[in-house]
Amino acid sequence: MSKIIVAIDGHSSCGKSTMAKALARAVGYIYVDTGAMYRCVTLYALRNRLIEQGRIYEFALLQHIRSGFIKISFQLDPETNLPLACLNGEVVEQEIRGMEVSNNVSPIAALPFVRTFLVAQQQAMGREKGIVMDGRDIATVVFPQAELKVFVTASAEVRAQRRFLELQEKGDTTTTFDEVLRNVQERDYIDSHREVAPLKPAEDSLILDNSNLTREQQNEWLLTQFHQRANQ
Ligand code: C5P
Repeated sequence: MSKIIVAIDGHSSCGKSTMAKALARAVGYIYVDTGAMYRCVTLYALRNRLIEQGRIYEFALLQHIRSGFIKISFQLDPETNLPLACLNGEVVEQEIRGMEVSNNVSPIAALPFVRTFLVAQQQAMGREKGIVMDGRDIATVVFPQAELKVFVTASAEVRAQRRFLELQEKGDTTTTFDEVLRNVQERDYIDSHREVAPLKPAEDSLILDNSNLTREQQNEWLLTQFHQRANQ
């Protein structure tokens, strides 16, 4: 069976990472969460005061990127065997999932030079195929030649509810459901309306609305699609 590229795009918090991880584990492929990469750049910008009160110092951020100050990598978690996002060698998984990064990531991801910087790294990771990558523009920009392309969606309320429960499980007792819903809706808007690589399905993407599917059902659906493509 030859190796293929699996591109999974979709709205914020629609469960695409969960299904992408499950597929990668089941078939022994590498999993890459590109949202984590945009979140790492955002965390770097916040830590270095390149974003203040929503204002981005674009030129300074570009200089930091050009000078090679922002290095993003993934380390395998020895317990779960899943990749952990690292910023300049430091594991930052916890911090990049918090509300401060979530509230600032979409404007950062809309900057063309940030996208060029990250897309080049993503394409390099897929050179050998055998990869499951999730994001917003994987099927349209990063790997338009991917053998399997999936676009996942669910209603904003269902997605906010899932994200809210996740935050609560992680011990966040201050963020309200309404804040999460607003963040999901704002990110949807910015991600779909930006000029560069807006969120949209590729012409040949399979569309999956998982509002009424269990995790097991969606994992099974994806595995079936995978075997059909990988055996062609
Ligand atoms: O997938 P996740 O919600 O963690 O992504 C965070 C943000 O990063 C998204 O809201 C989007 O603005 C941006 N993103 C992107 N392109 C990708 C992946 C994520 O613009 N391929």
